[in-house]
Amino acid sequence: MFARNNKVPRSCSRTRTVDASSHTPFVDPAADLPDCISLDPLNEDSLLANLLSRFKRDHIYTYIGNILLSINPYKPLAQYTEQAIADYKLRTVAISQLPPHVFAVADHAWRSLRDFYSDQVIVITGESGSGKTEASKLILQYLGFATGKSNELETVRQQLLLCNPVLEAFGNAKSIHNDNSSRFGKYIELEFDYRGEPVGGLITHYLLEKSRVTTQHHGERNFHIFFQLLAGADVQLLKSLKLQRNTDNYLYLRNNHSNPSVWHQSDKEEFLNTKKALETVGFSAEDIVNIFRIVAAVLKLGNLIFTPVSNIDGTEGCSINNEYELEEVATLLMISIDELRSALLYRTYSVSCSGMDPHGMGGVSGGNCFSRDSTLPSANSRTYIGNNHQQHQQMLLQQQRTSLLSTSASMVGASMVGRDMYQMMDGCHGSEVGLQVALGSRVYQDAKDDFVMTDLSAAEATTGRDALCKALYYRLFTWIINSINDRIKVKQHGKRRILSILDIYGFENLPTNGFEQLIINYCNEKLQHFVTEIIVKEEQEVYMQEGLEWSPILFPDNVAVCDLIEKHNLGLLAIMDEECQRPCNGSEDAFLNKVGQVFQDNTQVEVAWGLPSKSSDSTTVNAFRLKHYAGWVTYSVNGFLEKNSDLLVRGLSQSMYQCSHPIVKELFPEGNPRRTTLRRPATSGTQFKVAIIALMRSLRSKNPHFVRCIKPNAFKQPHHFDVQTIQNQLRYLGLLESTQVKRNGYAFRQPYAWFLQRYKMLSTVTWPHWGGVAIEGVARLLRDLPISATEYAFGRRMLFIKNDSTLMQLEDFRRIRL
Ligand code: ADP
Ligand code: MG
Repeated sequence: MFARNNKVPRSCSRTRTVDASSHTPFVDPAADLPDCISLDPLNEDSLLANLLSRFKRDHIYTYIGNILLSINPYKPLAQYTEQAIADYKLRTVAISQLPPHVFAVADHAWRSLRDFYSDQVIVITGESGSGKTEASKLILQYLGFATGKSNELETVRQQLLLCNPVLEAFGNAKSIHNDNSSRFGKYIELEFDYRGEPVGGLITHYLLEKSRVTTQHHGERNFHIFFQLLAGADVQLLKSLKLQRNTDNYLYLRNNHSNPSVWHQSDKEEFLNTKKALETVGFSAEDIVNIFRIVAAVLKLGNLIFTPVSNIDGTEGCSINNEYELEEVATLLMISIDELRSALLYRTYSVSCSGMDPHGMGGVSGGNCFSRDSTLPSANSRTYIGNNHQQHQQMLLQQQRTSLLSTSASMVGASMVGRDMYQMMDGCHGSEVGLQVALGSRVYQDAKDDFVMTDLSAAEATTGRDALCKALYYRLFTWIINSINDRIKVKQHGKRRILSILDIYGFENLPTNGFEQLIINYCNEKLQHFVTEIIVKEEQEVYMQEGLEWSPILFPDNVAVCDLIEKHNLGLLAIMDEECQRPCNGSEDAFLNKVGQVFQDNTQVEVAWGLPSKSSDSTTVNAFRLKHYAGWVTYSVNGFLEKNSDLLVRGLSQSMYQCSHPIVKELFPEGNPRRTTLRRPATSGTQFKVAIIALMRSLRSKNPHFVRCIKPNAFKQPHHFDVQTIQNQLRYLGLLESTQVKRNGYAFRQPYAWFLQRYKMLSTVTWPHWGGVAIEGVARLLRDLPISATEYAFGRRMLFIKNDSTLMQLEDFRRIRL
């Protein structure tokens, strides 16, 4: 089936099959060690046994040195109380004597920021549903409570804490892996002053999975906010939004085959939380209603039904079946119904610009000329050519009255069918002169405000409608985050340090994977690469450079897959972009062919034509498979290019710009007719790649702390420790290797001079000043302290400390002395 080298398809899971029962000797070992580096012997079996033994006691957290492993309990635990926070913050015992906890990681990061005045980042990784977002919320909660409580900071603190419910309402949804799955990546940068008090923050988000607005996989749901709004809005609000309570009334909420009523109760409560959170973050009552108007408009736009209409000249157009919905959408968005209708039913190509954008536009900038879109006018649609906006409007009105286009003197296109016209335009793309020759010689020589208008078929209008809804929702989401950022940004001057929390969507392998999964998994590859580089590779290199005794530990490296996806010119993203640059958006078959050619000799990619579709028995899909660090994933190329191009037809963005709705107008600046930016916006894939590279740079510039989340089973069940599922994750995360490195390695290192400067007050020999060589001063200092000699090692330039707890102990000594 998979054609590369005509190889037999491989099994998706490449792990050794483990029968859980054959491992029952693990089940209750005597050991229940909070830190895996103390395991003896240390191997995969003992690692698993320790985790299982702890999991059974609800000890979901375990250390691997300074890395925290967290296994999702899938049930509420009593370890997140204010008392627990106080235990970690005001600890009366060494942190090593407290049980492993996500609060300890938060505390360590925060203290490192305050004590060493350096930027910190907590990187949370794991598969979808493994507990990343919960961990990030607990970290925020800890930081919120653990830091001081002055009034001036209270607002900032509340705002930072309450961003999450807002982001989750708009950016999370039920997926097959997780009932509250984050469908966007989130990087929160919290800023602290010199006292370690929070003074503001910044949220960066990564590619929201906007295709979910219009379609969802089997058993999944649309974004929470749609359900929350219907369940929780009071009658008056619902009425003003022209909504009905029952989700079945909305096509976008109906096509998921899941059972929304299961969530109905919590949706209702969550709505109140979302509304409260919006208020606390600082949105005015008017803002909130305006946000809900957009959400409602998306739902109602999704209900529009387009019916084919045959024109008397044999061409095909369409009309809207349920005009009352359109009228209500127009009211919600504050736009004239005629304007909205014409944007949905016709495609207008303006040919009057001084330059030409052969690619159309999308995103937030666009040309003033062509709007190339992935949906072309159908071959048998009519084309009208006119030369000003008034004419255009008149035409529409006339057509509405008579369903017939009058061929006035200024219209000559009725005989020129849409696709021919389009191809003619496209054939000369890139050349204004070419266009004028092509069109001008037949139509107008140099008319201003010329346009070509075609009917859309019902299918094309439906695609346009969906594209509009996705754009509206995605841009609303971005607007909300930008507004939050405006409110939480630091308002005071002075030096600041950053503590960031990265919670990005987890690795996914669904029954059917598409463009979104490729992007999500690419991101996870990059993160996995970052984590192994830091934890395993760089650490070992430093030990060797510093002359410490060290036996190298091999680890799985995923740099080849990262390259395969992102390589300049020759990676999957570049091949996709190349195809999207072609006239008519290229073709998915051509993309797949090219993938087959470019990666002919690459054993990590396979191309497959005509695989049976998972969603229906009769259809087939063309796909490629990638061998990710977490296993093989098959990606159906269906819709890849359209999602990558992410273009919205100009008529639609223009109509949105015409809306008097205060937010909507702002969301579509490219719809401004006066705007003449001709550059084509970068594709989704490229934008994402650029963002991920910047993210990696930001992570690298900070002191990292790791939380590695593990999913205990695929059924979201408590008390279910599936040995094979966990073993698989331990392997692909390289956790045994990490444990070996941490066991033999050191948690902390600093140059001798730094160390001496920081801790010289702890010995009379080094205080107030040590006149000799730094390394000797450090040796004398350590001799005077109650720290075991096994806790540190002397490198060429640096002192290495084995455990974080020792460092914390040093800090405590220092604080007492100061
Ligand atoms: P991810 O972000 O990795 O996809 P989440 O953090 O959303 O996963 O976790 C999925 C679900 O698992 C949560 O909605 C919650 O029900 C449960 N869960 C995760 N972590 C915990 C925890 N520490 N305690 C209790 N339940 C948890
Ligand atoms: Mg999440």
